Amino acid sequence: MTTTTPAYVDVAFPTSVETPLTYRVPEEWREFATPGKRVLVPLGRRPVTGYLVGTREHPPVSSTKDLQEILDAEPLLDAHLLELTRWVADYYLCPWGEVIRTALPPGIDSLTRQVVRVTSAGAAAMDGGGFLRTGEREFLAFLRARGEAPLAALSRRWRRARALAHGLARRGLAEVGDEVRPPRIRPMTVPHCALSPGVDPETAPLPRRATRQRAILRALAAAGTGLPRSEAAAGSPAALAALILQGLVQVREVEVTRDPFAHPEGLVPSDLPLHLTAAQAEGVALVQTALAERRFLPVLLYGVTGSGKTEVYLQAIQNALDQARQALVLVPEIALTPLTVRRFLARFGGRVAVLHSGLRGGERYDAWRRVRRGEADIVVGARSAVFAPLPRLGIVVVDEEHDPSYKQEEVPRYHGRDVAIMRAKLLGAPVILGSATPSLESFERTQAGRYRLVRLAQRIEARPLPRVEVVDLRRIGGRDRLLSPPLVEALTGCLARGEQALLFLNRRGFSTLLLCEECGAAAGCPHCSISLTYHAGQGRLRCHTCDFERRPPERCQACQGSRLRYLGFGTQQLEVAVRERFPRARVARMDRDAAGTWREVTRVLEALEGGAIDILVGTQMIGKGHDVPNVTLVGVISADMALHLPDFRAGEHAFALLTQVVGRAGRGDRPGRALIQTFNPDHYILRAVQAQDYAALWEAEGELRRDQGLPPFTRAVLAVLSSPEAAAAERAAAELARLLRAHGVRPDALSGPAPVPVYRVRGRYRWQLLVRGPDAGGLHARVREAERAFRASPMARGVRLDLDVDPVRLC
Ligand code: ADP
Ligand code: ZN
Repeated sequence: MTTTTPAYVDVAFPTSVETPLTYRVPEEWREFATPGKRVLVPLGRRPVTGYLVGTREHPPVSSTKDLQEILDAEPLLDAHLLELTRWVADYYLCPWGEVIRTALPPGIDSLTRQVVRVTSAGAAAMDGGGFLRTGEREFLAFLRARGEAPLAALSRRWRRARALAHGLARRGLAEVGDEVRPPRIRPMTVPHCALSPGVDPETAPLPRRATRQRAILRALAAAGTGLPRSEAAAGSPAALAALILQGLVQVREVEVTRDPFAHPEGLVPSDLPLHLTAAQAEGVALVQTALAERRFLPVLLYGVTGSGKTEVYLQAIQNALDQARQALVLVPEIALTPLTVRRFLARFGGRVAVLHSGLRGGERYDAWRRVRRGEADIVVGARSAVFAPLPRLGIVVVDEEHDPSYKQEEVPRYHGRDVAIMRAKLLGAPVILGSATPSLESFERTQAGRYRLVRLAQRIEARPLPRVEVVDLRRIGGRDRLLSPPLVEALTGCLARGEQALLFLNRRGFSTLLLCEECGAAAGCPHCSISLTYHAGQGRLRCHTCDFERRPPERCQACQGSRLRYLGFGTQQLEVAVRERFPRARVARMDRDAAGTWREVTRVLEALEGGAIDILVGTQMIGKGHDVPNVTLVGVISADMALHLPDFRAGEHAFALLTQVVGRAGRGDRPGRALIQTFNPDHYILRAVQAQDYAALWEAEGELRRDQGLPPFTRAVLAVLSSPEAAAAERAAAELARLLRAHGVRPDALSGPAPVPVYRVRGRYRWQLLVRGPDAGGLHARVREAERAFRASPMARGVRLDLDVDPVRLC
């Protein structure tokens, strides 16, 4: 035994086991016990898969169990990624193993195994009587008879299988490799609808009042080769079903592409670098210096959409590639930002790997391995791509750095942007954060001198920003508040010019409330304290929190009254209203109901780009980074919800969201126009949106936050306590508050305990505490200690405690 090989290893678990445990390594495996591999170890009664995260000479406790198996020939994570995942676990107060699981491709455990084969040298040694140690000849003979064998199976037969295999491998007589089980790949099909031959949408025999059926026929006629069934139904599956029954519409299964970004190996770059403006050149030069010096440098690239940020990313990345370094690019969501992704593909071709949620298990794992083997120099992906195993990473880019989707809203609750910054810091690399509406966090750091600010003040070629007008709903009659006269007029003009429009409404469904006119009660979810939303397609009431659904009741559940009324509108109702108002327009909807999958989103955006949609109705999904020059009008149906959320970030988020949505208008050479309908026309956020004035937002919000001791001027942790017993949750919250104070949290740095705005979710009552502190280190340490004390307390029984570090959404 050599002294460099570890006798003991620390193993982290992808489950609720909080801290790594130490195991003894049987002597013959010691040289293979490298950090970053998966291992099989006994935990409780069963063997479980864990991650080898560290080695040690001496055990911390006297009795340690033995490692049962090493599951990888090559480490899955290198030292840098181990360090990064460790930081994430410490910072976000969650188990290391859970972070590692998040960092690895999903399903990897069922996709891989190690196999052993005899090499030709091995075969020659057997036949020629070469030197073989005891047991080796028998082992090789077994392998030769089988061709190859999984190491796990060999280990069951030979206790020393691993040592034998690796000993032979070192002498070139056998090979040990990680084998990927080929994922079962089936072509994917979706039902498509098309007009039956000879059907004319205008003359087809339909009942006079079947306007929805007529609208569907028109949409299908306009779409030519057909539409996916969900899209053709356009919120009225019953109408579509009637048409199919009458034989006016046909359905067939159409195979869909699995991955539009797959196999870019053959792609030839078609796009050349542009001559940079002075401001762009400044940004690229700054990053170039840091790259050359291998120095951590965070740069906030602040510029409105169309100001040339992407070109800065592209050229900064080119510089990194020229120095044989690699790049990591995070975007909020691949499906919603196809344009950005395509620009990377156009510039860099096959050097790009796109990691996205539309990839299924096997495909995703393939892409990940391609990256790990160093075959891709640029990774573009959403949040979890921040852990992509790039061995020579030299530059990191986070596009739309303010986007709330970078925050994972389940354990581990990490922020993709902040992990990206830490990754750059650990590596000594520049990181570019790009945004038209920077998060207050990032902007504050430029003011404090911790980040460099590069400002792209103008749109390229000085293309004007859209003109933003506010429609005062207080002056508009109830029936017209969905589509106000000014908005109808603007839409009419837009359609007449053959241009396209987007209508934004951040609520799904048809009606958001079913109210009893006799007693005033609303139909609510039995598990959550929120009202049910009526979905017209299925004719069901649905809970947007827990997905509970039911048929609408005939009578009020509270008073048995029979006068029930649907109130409040969602995107489905908006779509219907738009179709009624503009019967000739081709209308489509994009929200989680109409475009729930990655592929559906892509299809709608392609239809918009291809000019097959005149008016696209949708939630914030329509606001992201696509760029359709012919979209010249954006309507915001109601700004009020976003302005009044019970969340200290409501103003900031509303500003970013509305700016992004109105920014979709007029990106070509025609001027754009945006109309915002609201009951609060004088709200300071709307003024800032209208003037596209980030400085105004920073001044107003910054002052509020500073006065109230809120982020970005402090750090925060949100603690949520929940239990099926209301009293238990409340008592536990009071206890945690007491423990936090006992561990040094000042009373004025503690908000709550208070009920969470949506008090009950999935049958659990929830209380929250917002804890703040001047610095992350001190705050997190106090919270962690209070948490330990809390978990040991009898008050914790039956209560779940969730900690959210740097919370992005409070409701
Ligand atoms: P952003 O990422 O800020 O939205 P882009 O980088 O997409 O902006 O630039 C907007 C448009 O201007 C794109 O069509 C791009 O090709 C073009 N563009 C960017 N930089 C330049 C430049 N230096 N010279 C000419 N055109 C440019
Ligand atoms: Zn519910």
